[in-house]
Amino acid sequence: MNKPGRNDLCHCGSGLKYKKCHMKEDQEVEKEHSLVQRAANFIRRDLLAFARDERFAEAFALSLPIYWNDYYDASNAEQMSQPEALRFFDWFVFDHYLEDGRRLIEIYAEEKMDDLSSHQQEIAANWVNAGASSLYELTAYEGQMLELRDYLTGEEFTVYEGGGRGNVELGELIITRLVPVADRMELSTTAAYLPAAEITDVKQKIEAAKEAYLAENPDASHTDFMRRHSHLLVHHALLEAKNQDRPPVSRLDPNRADAKVQKIARGMARFKR
Ligand SMILES: [Zn+2]
Repeated sequence: MNKPGRNDLCHCGSGLKYKKCHMKEDQEVEKEHSLVQRAANFIRRDLLAFARDERFAEAFALSLPIYWNDYYDASNAEQMSQPEALRFFDWFVFDHYLEDGRRLIEIYAEEKMDDLSSHQQEIAANWVNAGASSLYELTAYEGQMLELRDYLTGEEFTVYEGGGRGNVELGELIITRLVPVADRMELSTTAAYLPAAEITDVKQKIEAAKEAYLAENPDASHTDFMRRHSHLLVHHALLEAKNQDRPPVSRLDPNRADAKVQKIARGMARFKR
């Protein structure tokens, strides 16, 4: 987004110089934004740390092969790359139902809310209700703003992503979760993507799974279904990688994770029962 210079005309069309018009107001908004941004990054890291608690070790070991379709399990978890570990834990925290029927983010919010700042509380509360991981088509982009269309529902989103579109081309698909941060949507963690040649029948697979799920759970929403089946997107990506005879998932990373998150991810990759 282009900001006017101090002496440029204000963007509001008043005819005044920016510094005499909306500059101060914009700066306030920006400051608030950066506070919320910082709170969101704190929650991202804190959720990862929380997920590594010893009491979730068994659930971690049991759920690894579910997410990775046996590609990783407790015996080779330390071989996950950092982005792989981040994506796994994102699913483990947001979508995976623990034995008591709760998700980790729900437990986090319940136990930690009182220790959080007001900005952090707002993020945590919103993220409990964030949607499931899904599949999004990149339909347009400008700098760090991406236009994404849910490949399964058609719903459209404007999303901020610090790393821009990474390696993703228009029409290709991103496997990710969208979370609200202040007044815009962001990706919850490092995304994976499906190159054009590897999209193949992913939609048909998901639709078949949904039909079966709805037959058993007629009142379930699309989000309910996706929470329980978003790992099928990863299974599809793994299979396509295998069909292309290349090492799976490592190239699915459009971009960076910040250094602190990477450090935590390295720790998690070593986390064993
Ligand atoms: Zn103005």
